[in-house]
Amino acid sequence: MLSRCRSGLLHVLGLSFLLQTRRPILLCSPRLMKPLVVFVLGGPGAGKGTQCARIVEEMDQTMAANAQKNKFLIDGFPRNQDNLQGWNKTMDGKADVSFVLFFDCNNEICIERCLERGKSSGRSDDNRESLEKRIQTYLQSTKPIIDLYEEMGKVKKIDASKSVDEVFDEVVQIFDKEG
Ligand code: ADP
Ligand code: MG
Repeated sequence: MLSRCRSGLLHVLGLSFLLQTRRPILLCSPRLMKPLVVFVLGGPGAGKGTQCARIVEEMDQTMAANAQKNKFLIDGFPRNQDNLQGWNKTMDGKADVSFVLFFDCNNEICIERCLERGKSSGRSDDNRESLEKRIQTYLQSTKPIIDLYEEMGKVKKIDASKSVDEVFDEVVQIFDKEG
């Protein structure tokens, strides 16, 4: 049971999220407790994947405890209105959003990081032209979703331009505080 739960803690990307996680969430809910989710958002290259991997790796005990408490970390979702509507429609009454972990990072730093990642990632979209479009899509489609959660007082903002270790220290502080 725990291993099925923990697979739900790993990164689940964008549009495929509802499909991929519906089953683990149900499997993780033998009790009547509603799942609590943390949405992880930020621009391309802000460090979402890096920090999510680290959370799962280094907060192992915490995350195992979180899995038992039905807590889920979702990387890069909801990235637009369509995702949000899908979430609200499908998950209404079935899960609660604990908070949005927002990795706030300057666009140029994001682009530089992705260009660097592109040297070894093999991702065809890690080139400057495509990255500038992805930043625009992020600003037009994802940032308004973050702003919406901000209005509800549910955004925990982290300065993601710092080093991986410094960002992770902030992540740990937030999880320690939020439980
Ligand atoms: P995202 O998932 O938000 O698109 P990634 O976690 O894939 O971003 O990070 C993009 C690139 O930047 C990767 O090559 C990663 O190693 C690097 N990176 C991530 N966080 C930092 C950081 N705080 N400082 C410097 N480089 C970083
Ligand atoms: Mg990523």
